[in-house]
Amino acid sequence: MINIVLFGPPGAGKGTQAERLVEKYNLVHLSTGDIFRRNMKEGTELGKLAKSYIDNGNLVPDEVTINMLEDEASKHTNANGFIFDGFPRTEPQAEALDAFLEKKGMEITSMLALVVEDAELKARLLKRAETSGRADDADESIIENRIQVYKDETAPVAGYYNKQNKLYEIDGIGSIDEISQRLFDVIG
Ligand code: AMP
Repeated sequence: MINIVLFGPPGAGKGTQAERLVEKYNLVHLSTGDIFRRNMKEGTELGKLAKSYIDNGNLVPDEVTINMLEDEASKHTNANGFIFDGFPRTEPQAEALDAFLEKKGMEITSMLALVVEDAELKARLLKRAETSGRADDADESIIENRIQVYKDETAPVAGYYNKQNKLYEIDGIGSIDEISQRLFDVIG
């Protein structure tokens, strides 16, 4: 069983590469951002709660996010493994994920961290805004806040996995195929 944390700042290409990994390794893709957006679209209580955080580029509180992720993961009892995309984004989330997986006799295999510089992230997100319909992609100051939140709250999570010798940094610049190949090479 392979359980991957696909990591990186907003616009690094996590969603795109997660699709490639799903195809190749037959994994369940859990994107907390996608699950929140689905709830917002459906107007659920969770969606209503998450909306103001997401639209402003701030993190949804840990407790809400962790409960949601555990509920979703528990639905897939026969999974070959998981790709966690956009989760964990804080150290408490990383600790909760380890505890959750341990209870199920599983663990994270590796964290694959896509590395892309800020100017390229901004350019990619503004381009994505043309088609994504996401309020948080359309406004440059919100994009800047998302990148700052990543640096302040999320980047330390890489250190958490580094201590477990599970961190692999991958150059996130290049064609989609080139980057997929780099990920495949690390996963083996
Ligand atoms: P993403 O689709 O991964 O870019 O996530 C979009 C937004 O959803 C983020 O800017 C946060 O507001 C929220 N979000 C997604 N994942 C998490 C998480 N693990 N913890 C807290 N907030 C999250």
